[in-house]
Amino acid sequence: MTKPKYHMVSFSGGKDSTAMLLHMMELGMQIDEVLYCDTWMEFPEMERHVKRIKKLVEDAGIKFVTLKKPMSFKYLMLEHQPERRQSTKEKFGENLKGYSWPGSRCRWCTSELKTGLFKKYKQEMNDKYDVIEYVGLAADEQYRLERESNKVHKHPLVDWNWTEADALKYCYDKGFDWEGLYKIFDRVSCWCCPLQSLKDLKGLWKNFPDLWNELNEMDKQTWRTFRADYSVEELTARFELEEQLEAEGKSINPHNKEYRKSWNKVLSKLRKDVAQ
Ligand code: SF4
Repeated sequence: MTKPKYHMVSFSGGKDSTAMLLHMMELGMQIDEVLYCDTWMEFPEMERHVKRIKKLVEDAGIKFVTLKKPMSFKYLMLEHQPERRQSTKEKFGENLKGYSWPGSRCRWCTSELKTGLFKKYKQEMNDKYDVIEYVGLAADEQYRLERESNKVHKHPLVDWNWTEADALKYCYDKGFDWEGLYKIFDRVSCWCCPLQSLKDLKGLWKNFPDLWNELNEMDKQTWRTFRADYSVEELTARFELEEQLEAEGKSINPHNKEYRKSWNKVLSKLRKDVAQ
């Protein structure tokens, strides 16, 4: 039996999927559902943006579905007791609590809070429908591989030849500005993500002191350091030093010899103090 076609837009809240969704609606393209996944750690500005889009979508008579795991990011990170690898127990001890910070080789948050939920939900939808999924991949992203490996996905931004910059401009022109998030950050994802660039982390430290304090508290409560190279406290010291050097008209280029000397001095003092 042929299943009915179902047009589903994958929406992350970011500029690319927002531009794709808004323009699809503008063109009157068929959309049966907008699917969004909440990771618990979105910026308040992003939450307000998503709420606004949700209303717009629902006012147009389109279903808006939010997937959100009942266990929060913080619970999974600080309390949850997953099965551990022997090597982890040997390195960090037997009585670990939570997954701790995600890292490049252990992105538990992506699988627990996003892909796992998506997979289950999409499976249920695929059983009932012939799902056509729209993904907000921009024309200047590495899309060829994704296009070849996933033939059921459609990429309207690529079809329209819209780059990431085009997508952002379109959103701004339509009055969606995330209250300035894209003016601060290159990538807008979970505010607590240890995998974001140092530049974006500095943006968080400078513009969101309350979230930065929360990040520091989380770092103190867990067994893996925020990043392989620095704890949140060390990053704070680094950004403070950079502000001071800049105010004195000095270089903060990490390759600059004087900068490296100053930073190494601050870092070794911090680590000596912690060790004592
Ligand atoms: S943005 Fe970072 S913290 Fe959030 S789910 Fe992805 S890897 Fe995890």
